[in-house]
Amino acid sequence: MYPGGALKEDIYYFAKERAKCDDSASWEARRLDRKQTERRTHFLHTLSKRIVSACKQRSVGTIVIGDLGGIRDDENGDARNWGDHGNLDLHGWAFDRFTSMLEYKAEDEGIEVVRKSERDTSKTCSSCGTKDGNQRIERGLYVCDDCGTVANADVNGAENIRRKVLPNLATDGGRDRDNGWMAQPAVHLFDRSEGSFAPREQGSNREP
Ligand SMILES: [Zn+2]
Repeated sequence: MYPGGALKEDIYYFAKERAKCDDSASWEARRLDRKQTERRTHFLHTLSKRIVSACKQRSVGTIVIGDLGGIRDDENGDARNWGDHGNLDLHGWAFDRFTSMLEYKAEDEGIEVVRKSERDTSKTCSSCGTKDGNQRIERGLYVCDDCGTVANADVNGAENIRRKVLPNLATDGGRDRDNGWMAQPAVHLFDRSEGSFAPREQGSNREP
């Protein structure tokens, strides 16, 4: 998982800094706008590059991405409540930008990118496929009373999106998948000082 927290922090930080400017057209306000845009662009490039390189390493042939079709900013320019969408707290246009970056980087590596509707993906159990209301989300965990699955809610949603395109790929027992990976996925945080992603456990096990 690659949390977008750094982007969110920037949104708050730059809003606060801009509020200190007397005039939104001032040199300083425009400088802040440019800086925020640069940082967002860098984040999205770094993330898409990182994902494509991880996929290349694992000989992934197809990346399936949730299509947020219809989810767009409202008339005030604020992001609508993304509800089910969990951590991917990006405005619609930023997500479009990220998706196209991912698509052209993947294409360079011969990896296909398929967009798929996210409809029902947060409510369905990715292990047993049921969607009868005996599932719930508690503190970011998806819990299925039918089969006992406990999964990170975002991972459960991602698995469901993937299954729409690649239904026969095993969800467990894969060679590089530990038990419990659905409940506790590896998390890579964006390190501002280095401008790159690193595993949450800092130190010697940093990935190349
Ligand atoms: Zn289940």
